[in-house]
Amino acid sequence: MWFCTALFFFRAQAEQRNKQNKETMILFDHSGETTNHTAAELELAKLIERLDANLRAISGQGRIALASSLSAEDMVLTDVIARLSLPIDIFTLQTGRLHSDTVAMIERTRLRYGLTIREVEPEANALAQFVATHGLNGFYESLEARKACCGVRKLEPLGRALSGYDAWVTGQRREQALTRDQLDEREHDTAHDLIKHNPLASWQWADVLAYAEHFQVPLNPLHARGYVSIGCDPCTRAIRPGEHARDGRWWWENADTKECGLHQNNPNKEANA
Ligand code: SF4
Repeated sequence: MWFCTALFFFRAQAEQRNKQNKETMILFDHSGETTNHTAAELELAKLIERLDANLRAISGQGRIALASSLSAEDMVLTDVIARLSLPIDIFTLQTGRLHSDTVAMIERTRLRYGLTIREVEPEANALAQFVATHGLNGFYESLEARKACCGVRKLEPLGRALSGYDAWVTGQRREQALTRDQLDEREHDTAHDLIKHNPLASWQWADVLAYAEHFQVPLNPLHARGYVSIGCDPCTRAIRPGEHARDGRWWWENADTKECGLHQNNPNKEANA
C-alpha cells in the first residue's frame, strides 16, 4: 500500500511541475519575453544560472572529478557537465552491490551524453577478507561490520579514484540527512587533502526534479519507485509517506550513524567516519 502511495506522490509531483513549467522555454530562450512564466520557473532559472556559473568556475581550478552515485542529484551535475562541455571527469564506486537499475544508468549516461563514467571497484583481496570474516551480508549484524564493508567497497576505492585530482564534486544536499544539515558548498576534504565542492548543497528535492524535467535528464528508475537516496541494493529501500529520505538508507541504524564515511567533513561527521 505504501509503495502505491509513494508512486502516486512522485506522479503527483511530476504533474504539478508539468503544469508549472508550460512556459519555461520562454524563460530560457533569451527572447526577452518575461511575462508568461511563474515564480517557480523564475526560481528554477536562477538556480540553473547559478549552478552553471559555479561548475564552470570549478572546472577551471585544476583536475576535477565528479563522484557519481547515479542518483538524480549526480545526473543533474552530469547534465551540466555535458551541456557546458566542462572538463570534469566522472567516476562511480562500483561496490559490487549496486542495484541493477543503478548499473544500467552508466550505459544510459553514455548513450545520452557520450560521457564515460569510470567504474572504480574494491580491491579483490580486501573484499575476500571482509567476506571471509563477516559474511557477504555481515553488515546487517553490527555497525562495525557495516563500516568495514563500506570501508572495503567504498572508502578505499574512493581514495584511489581521487588520486591525481585537485578537487572533487558531489551531489550532496543539506536536506538529505541530519549529518548534512551544516553542509557547505565548498569545504576541505581532510581525509584526502582536497577541495570538495557541493554545488547542490542548498537545493531541495523538488529543485532536483524540476531541473531533471526541464532538461529531460535520464533518471534512475528507482526514484520513481520511492527510492530518494541511491546506494547499495541491500542497504537501500524505498521510503514510506512521511519518512525522511535518509530513512531509506541503513534503516536498521540510528539516524546519526547514517553515513558510509565518504563524506567526512560535515560538523556531525565524527560519529560517521
Ligand atoms: S552500503 Fe551496504 S553493501 Fe554497500 S558498502 Fe556499505 S555496507 Fe556494504
